Amino acid sequence: MRKYNEPQSMIPCSECNIGMMHKTRVTYFTWLADELITVPDFPAWICDVCGKREYDLEALNNLALLLNPIPAQTKSPKASKSVQKSEGAKTSAQPPSPE
Ligand SMILES: [Zn+2]
Repeated sequence: MRKYNEPQSMIPCSECNIGMMHKTRVTYFTWLADELITVPDFPAWICDVCGKREYDLEALNNLALLLNPIPAQTKSPKASKSVQKSEGAKTSAQPPSPE
Protein backbone atom coordinates (compact mmCIF):
# COMPACT_ATOMS: atom_id res chain seq x y z
CA MET A 1 0.00 0.00 0.00
CA ARG A 2 1.39 3.34 -0.95
CA LYS A 3 -0.07 6.66 0.02
CA TYR A 4 0.58 9.96 -1.65
CA ASN A 5 1.96 12.33 0.90
CA GLU A 6 1.75 15.34 -1.36
CA PRO A 7 -1.74 16.76 -1.30
CA GLN A 8 -2.77 18.72 -4.39
CA SER A 9 0.22 18.16 -6.62
CA MET A 10 -2.35 18.06 -9.43
CA ILE A 11 -5.75 19.72 -9.66
CA PRO A 12 -8.35 19.51 -12.44
CA CYS A 13 -8.29 22.50 -14.74
CA SER A 14 -11.11 24.96 -14.21
CA GLU A 15 -10.71 26.37 -17.71
CA CYS A 16 -11.01 23.37 -20.00
CA ASN A 17 -12.23 20.74 -17.50
CA ILE A 18 -10.16 18.17 -19.40
CA GLY A 19 -6.57 18.72 -18.42
CA MET A 20 -4.88 18.62 -15.08
CA MET A 21 -3.02 21.54 -13.62
CA HIS A 22 0.41 20.63 -12.39
CA LYS A 23 2.28 22.50 -9.76
CA THR A 24 5.40 24.01 -11.18
CA ARG A 25 7.66 26.98 -10.72
CA VAL A 26 7.76 30.00 -12.96
CA THR A 27 9.17 33.47 -12.84
CA TYR A 28 6.54 35.84 -11.55
CA PHE A 29 6.42 39.41 -12.84
CA THR A 30 4.67 42.23 -11.08
CA TRP A 31 4.84 45.99 -10.96
CA LEU A 32 5.54 47.77 -7.72
CA ALA A 33 5.01 51.47 -8.37
CA ASP A 34 7.34 52.11 -11.33
CA GLU A 35 9.56 49.12 -10.70
CA LEU A 36 9.22 45.76 -12.38
CA ILE A 37 9.66 43.04 -9.80
CA THR A 38 10.64 39.54 -10.91
CA VAL A 39 10.29 36.62 -8.56
CA PRO A 40 12.09 33.45 -9.72
CA ASP A 41 10.88 30.00 -8.70
CA PHE A 42 7.39 31.23 -7.99
CA PRO A 43 4.90 28.40 -7.44
CA ALA A 44 2.22 28.23 -10.12
CA TRP A 45 -0.24 25.78 -11.66
CA ILE A 46 -0.16 25.09 -15.38
CA CYS A 47 -2.71 23.01 -17.31
CA ASP A 48 -1.22 20.33 -19.52
CA VAL A 49 -4.03 20.65 -22.07
CA CYS A 50 -4.98 24.31 -22.51
CA GLY A 51 -1.91 25.82 -20.89
CA LYS A 52 -3.86 27.90 -18.41
CA ARG A 53 -1.55 29.37 -15.82
CA GLU A 54 -2.55 30.22 -12.29
CA TYR A 55 -0.19 31.51 -9.67
CA ASP A 56 -0.34 29.84 -6.28
CA LEU A 57 -2.72 31.85 -4.09
CA GLU A 58 -0.81 31.29 -0.89
CA ALA A 59 2.42 32.39 -2.51
CA LEU A 60 0.66 35.47 -3.92
CA ASN A 61 -0.54 36.40 -0.44
CA ASN A 62 2.93 35.96 0.99
CA LEU A 63 4.39 38.09 -1.75
CA ALA A 64 1.79 40.80 -1.16
CA LEU A 65 2.79 40.92 2.49
CA LEU A 66 6.45 41.21 1.52
CA LEU A 67 5.87 43.99 -0.99
CA ASN A 68 3.30 45.90 1.03
CA PRO A 69 4.19 45.51 4.70
CA ILE A 70 1.46 46.78 6.97
CA PRO A 71 2.90 49.59 9.11
CA ALA A 72 2.81 48.65 12.76
CA GLN A 73 0.42 50.90 14.59
CA THR A 74 2.09 51.79 17.85
CA LYS A 75 -0.32 53.35 20.27
CA SER A 76 1.73 55.91 22.20
CA PRO A 77 4.29 53.67 23.96
CA LYS A 78 4.95 56.39 26.56
CA ALA A 79 1.48 56.00 28.06
CA SER A 80 2.29 52.67 29.72
CA LYS A 81 5.41 54.16 31.25
CA SER A 82 3.52 56.95 33.04
CA VAL A 83 0.98 54.42 34.33
CA GLN A 84 3.79 52.31 35.78
CA LYS A 85 5.29 55.35 37.47
CA SER A 86 2.05 56.45 39.16
CA GLU A 87 1.47 52.88 40.29
CA GLY A 88 4.89 52.81 41.96
CA ALA A 89 4.23 56.14 43.69
CA LYS A 90 0.97 54.80 45.01
CA THR A 91 2.54 51.74 46.64
CA SER A 92 5.38 53.74 48.21
CA ALA A 93 3.01 56.28 49.73
CA GLN A 94 1.50 54.05 52.37
CA PRO A 95 -0.54 55.72 55.08
CA PRO A 96 0.82 55.16 58.59
CA SER A 97 -1.22 52.56 60.36
CA PRO A 98 -2.45 53.84 63.75
CA GLU A 99 -1.87 51.61 66.76
ZN1 LIG B 1 -6.98 23.39 -19.04
